[in-house]
Amino acid sequence: MPPSAKPHWEDLFREVVQTDTCSGCAACVVACPRKVLGYRDTHPFQMDEPSGPAGCRFGEAGCDACVRACHRFHLDTDTIEGERFGRPRAPDELSGMERQRLALRAVQPEVAARGQDGGLVSALLIWAMETGRIDGAVVAGPVPGQPWRAQPTLVETPDEVLRCAGSYYTYSPNLLALAEAAPDRRLALVSVPCQVSGVVKSQWRKLKKFRQVVFTVGLMCSETFTETGFLDELLHDRLELDLGQVRKVNVKGRVLVTTDQADRGRLGRGPLPGSRARIGDDGLIEIPLKEARPTARPQCHWCPDFAAEWADLAAGGLGLEGWTITLLRTETGLDWVRGLLAAGRAEARPAEEFPTGLAVLDRLSRIQRLRPGRQRARLDPAVPTGYDGSSALRPVPAAPDGGAAAAVAAAPTAPPPRA
Ligand SMILES: Cc1cc2nc3c(=O)[nH]c(=O)nc-3n(C[C@H](O)[C@H](O)[C@H](O)COP(=O)(O)OP(=O)(O)OC[C@H]3O[C@@H](n4cnc5c(N)ncnc54)[C@H](O)[C@@H]3O)c2cc1C
Ligand code: SF4
Ligand code: SF4
Repeated sequence: MPPSAKPHWEDLFREVVQTDTCSGCAACVVACPRKVLGYRDTHPFQMDEPSGPAGCRFGEAGCDACVRACHRFHLDTDTIEGERFGRPRAPDELSGMERQRLALRAVQPEVAARGQDGGLVSALLIWAMETGRIDGAVVAGPVPGQPWRAQPTLVETPDEVLRCAGSYYTYSPNLLALAEAAPDRRLALVSVPCQVSGVVKSQWRKLKKFRQVVFTVGLMCSETFTETGFLDELLHDRLELDLGQVRKVNVKGRVLVTTDQADRGRLGRGPLPGSRARIGDDGLIEIPLKEARPTARPQCHWCPDFAAEWADLAAGGLGLEGWTITLLRTETGLDWVRGLLAAGRAEARPAEEFPTGLAVLDRLSRIQRLRPGRQRARLDPAVPTGYDGSSALRPVPAAPDGGAAAAVAAAPTAPPPRA
């Protein structure tokens, strides 16, 4: 049989995986009908021995499922957005298209207490399960015996949703948990934006495995940290924190660690030379982002999408306490949140009451949109990646005052109606 003319794993491996433009979303692994792709250290790899790591004999025979799933391979953003939202995003819609933005928080005390910010995501999953909209969700859950290590987890009951509430700032390829669900189960995906992109592109390319995802929740994201660099080397080795006693990790302009550890580790004995990490007045360990950033995954430097621009609903804390800023992007997103509010499971305030949070949203979206272009400029032009951000990333217009907020204010979108 002649080699297939269609791009396949060989092209994906050369252009995306080897160049580190791969986000690690795992969509290609899920899409592979021959189950020859594995996943290790946030990268896909070829397991089929006769094919070798850089090739695929099934791809040569015509299979292109992995390529169709990949949101970093020759992405046609305008067409996908046109199909999903009815029109392509305007260049000045810096954080993507939306129908409404709200600040939301869970009403049930146990949900609010377990949530990372307002507990909105968990409240929505529980309500969607109880009302039969979904049979389950793929989320990030704890790895038994390994504090703060996350793993893809299928949840099918409200108790399981609550057990997995909160944020892990390391990468969890939640799409891999799709394999645990029967094909007729309707699922929500909760994930960082790159996995939402993987699902939306795969659905657009009609890949069957992704049909069961009926709702996508995107968590706003600037980067994820590596387990070794962030958890082991920074928190455990350098700051001498017992990960088993860490109760919460949050990122609000800096990394904030809540711990039960009475001595507060290394910082309890005084300042750490060469570091501006400190114990705050409230007892939280505060680590400047600058000191955590070297532990970020290199793949994230290619990512233009802070605000999960293709999700049904995007959620972020944006520096606020106890509220989740929520961007409702699709009709389904709007409809579900209206249902949640009508059921009394969440309370809402206009997002505009939190101008500081919205300014953070604009600023981070703008910075991130420029990131792949900058990264590409640093790269040897001979490196064979088709992903230079230009297809994922329209030019970002200069704001009249040089600030992102003004660019957003000038965007031609109608002000969102109140829920
Ligand atoms: C890696 C990461 C980076 C983030 N960065 C920002 C940021 O820069 N700015 C900002 O405003 N918000 C950021 N967020 C979002 C924020 O932390 C909250 O997830 C969001 O505000 C929703 O809060 P909630 O209380 O409504 O969610 P909850 O009710 O607590 O539910 C959170 C859900 O997220 C799932 N989850 C947790 N960790 C992960 C993970 N690593 N990968 C996939 N799913 C996960 C949980 O399983 C749970 O289902 C980030 C989240 C993550 C996971
Ligand atoms: S970005 Fe996702 S789909 Fe593309 S190669 Fe990486 S893991 Fe696979
Ligand atoms: S920054 Fe982008 S690539 Fe990195 S985890 Fe977040 S969404 Fe994925």
